[in-house]
Amino acid sequence: MALPIVHYNDPILHKKGAKVVLFDGALAQLAQEMIAAMQAAEGIGLAAQQVGRALMLCVVDLRAAKAEFNWTLDGARPPLDLFMPMVLVNPEVSVAPGTDDYIYEEGCLSFPKIRGDVVRPDAITVKYQDERGVPHVLTCDDLLARCVQHEVDHLNGVLFIDRMEKKVRALIDDDVKALAKETRAAARAAKVS
Ligand SMILES: [Zn+2]
Repeated sequence: MALPIVHYNDPILHKKGAKVVLFDGALAQLAQEMIAAMQAAEGIGLAAQQVGRALMLCVVDLRAAKAEFNWTLDGARPPLDLFMPMVLVNPEVSVAPGTDDYIYEEGCLSFPKIRGDVVRPDAITVKYQDERGVPHVLTCDDLLARCVQHEVDHLNGVLFIDRMEKKVRALIDDDVKALAKETRAAARAAKVS
């Protein structure tokens, strides 16, 4: 069975992840299980907090997204199939000065059926390690840059609803409150059973 995905407003979603220092078999296995959970949920990214672990670890796979974007990985442009699904450990995102922002309607596996516009920079550079501890540098734009930023936010305990403009956030407020209530009820039910 795939790892269950934590829904809003489970407290783990607000926790900053611990830096990964041990690149062992358990880390590689967790990464593989997160990839399986992401694929089972038909998502393009998943952060450790979303499977109940506050760690600087996320996974990304845009092969099914049919989106156009550019990338450079370690100075080359390998085909997507060679490096996706990606495992990003201890990622650090930087944005070049003067990078344009753009609006895109995001979703999140921890917020089923809830979507909303978020403004983010169009292009980023992310330094990270893979599950074996090997360092990499990825420069990318468009949906890949957005997905990485969304996941790295999770690792810092930041959610896409925190990034929304007030008027956008207000549009989904009822749905967000209903989801939080549902999550609380499920946690209570799990405790008594
Ligand atoms: Zn998310």
